[in-house]
Amino acid sequence: MNDFTNAEVARKLQEVTAAYTLNKGNLFQIRAYENAATSIEHSTSEVKDLWEEGNLDKISGIGEAIKAHLDELFKTGKVKHWEEIKKGIPSGVFELLGIPGIGPKTALKLAKMGVSGKDDLIHQLRNNILVKKGFSKPLARKIGDALKRESARPKDGRMLLTFAFAQAERILEYLKKTPDIEKVDALGSLRRMVATIGDLDFAIASETPQKAIDYIVKMPGISKVSEKGNTKATIILSGGLSVDFIVVDPASYGALLQHFTGSKAHNIHLRSYAEKNGLSLSEFGVRNVKTSKINQTSTEEEFYGLLKMQVPPPEIREDTDEIELAIKHQLPQLVELEDIKGDLHVHSNLIAKPSHDPGVNSIKEIAKTAKKLGYRYVGSCDHQPSQANHNAEEMIQVLEKKKKAIEQQNYSGHLPRVLNLLEVDILPDGSLGVPDGALKYLDFAVASVHSSFNQSRNQMTMRILRALQNPYVKVLGHPTGRLLNKRESYKVDWKKVFKFAAKNNKALEINAYPDRLDLPDILVREAKEYGVKFVVSTDSHNVSQMDNMRFGVAVARRGWCEAKDIINTWDFKRLLEWCRI
Ligand SMILES: [Zn+2]
Ligand SMILES: [Zn+2]
Repeated sequence: MNDFTNAEVARKLQEVTAAYTLNKGNLFQIRAYENAATSIEHSTSEVKDLWEEGNLDKISGIGEAIKAHLDELFKTGKVKHWEEIKKGIPSGVFELLGIPGIGPKTALKLAKMGVSGKDDLIHQLRNNILVKKGFSKPLARKIGDALKRESARPKDGRMLLTFAFAQAERILEYLKKTPDIEKVDALGSLRRMVATIGDLDFAIASETPQKAIDYIVKMPGISKVSEKGNTKATIILSGGLSVDFIVVDPASYGALLQHFTGSKAHNIHLRSYAEKNGLSLSEFGVRNVKTSKINQTSTEEEFYGLLKMQVPPPEIREDTDEIELAIKHQLPQLVELEDIKGDLHVHSNLIAKPSHDPGVNSIKEIAKTAKKLGYRYVGSCDHQPSQANHNAEEMIQVLEKKKKAIEQQNYSGHLPRVLNLLEVDILPDGSLGVPDGALKYLDFAVASVHSSFNQSRNQMTMRILRALQNPYVKVLGHPTGRLLNKRESYKVDWKKVFKFAAKNNKALEINAYPDRLDLPDILVREAKEYGVKFVVSTDSHNVSQMDNMRFGVAVARRGWCEAKDIINTWDFKRLLEWCRI
């Protein structure tokens, strides 16, 4: 068996990309490998599973050649073609790839200077050996800073929500097929839709627990059953993920579900509230302390009902006022996925040389997908034309052309309306990467920070505020710049930004891209209190990613947003009024 996780496969593809780059391979090949690596890294299914099921097509951006290579990889454990491409390149190069700030060329330079790997690099940087050998001083400092930041980040190895959610969906789909299982739900941080997830746990209601357990351990894709009891089972999936199941009688399912959904803080507070009312809570039910009688509860409605409370949606069970409001029956009506009427950040392939990754689909394909999702409108929001390849005049031409293309698309009138948007770089001084003469062709611009993440808090705050002052900018894209498990947020005085945004009718984006989920839920709640409005967008680079909207909505819910707080729940007319410049 040749088991490779998605991260390992992506890593191999990145190595081939680097090898092609160093060997001056053709640009299309390099792009193809880059795209394949990115799709696999962000895939919500295990590539190995898809390969086994003959479903590699489900991963976007993988052509026939790479598919054949993956086939060879899973069958034999290696790929001859890849080995050949990598021949002659010092192995140290591949060790150094992936360290922030080190691309293939720098890696080669370092390897040639005798750096053997990451630890050696840290050693040589710390002792100034590299600079003495002639390595660029500013570059050495940049890499050193990046390494320091990386080591400061907690390595808790948690899964991205999107990945955990997709694994859970497959499991749920299987479990719902047997008559021996009456109800099943994911538990813990997954049910609360936290941005990163530790473990997968499931609650199951069954009249015939033994049969349910027997069915669970026969699930396809299990590499090992590590525990099998009368009411509990633990399995290890082929990707190495451990999953726990706990089975109870349907009569006490509500208490079990409540108990293991958490959060801990929510349950502790809830227990002390119950005690004051002469009740004691557990996974078995609600006990009357005086009479010792346990009230079983088959649903959470019954469970919270015994406490004379509303049921707080799982996403807000974090002990931040939800208990107080549930007691008063004043919980907010949180936004739902069905409230969303459009996606305002989808990258297309329209702009030939954008400043960052282009999308893979045409505007028409995007509009069709938007229709399938039931949307009324969709924002074609490409990265701006790159400054390296366009002067101001050329940018104006590109955006004039984009406007015409979108008008033509909208002319047919059959598909959802396409809004003409652009993701504009916020330059280090807060100016925009595109002149106003070009921005005027847009419905509005989404402005994002894509460089110089290390500025001081004050500098970064001023930078963002200056960008938001531009009348064409209506949305701040992925506001904190964090990449989950990869990059910390940059430092910003959020109060200043929230105040400015609320006062000047600028929205903050809740970006649903799997490793972003940015603005983070805690800041969403804070911003909302300042009266800030949001757009929930997927930042899709491929129409298949437009499904990620639910994760952005989850962040909005965790931030206590109602539909009225989210601009893309509004109908088209109101949206146009909002974005009128
Ligand atoms: Zn961006
Ligand atoms: Zn984007």
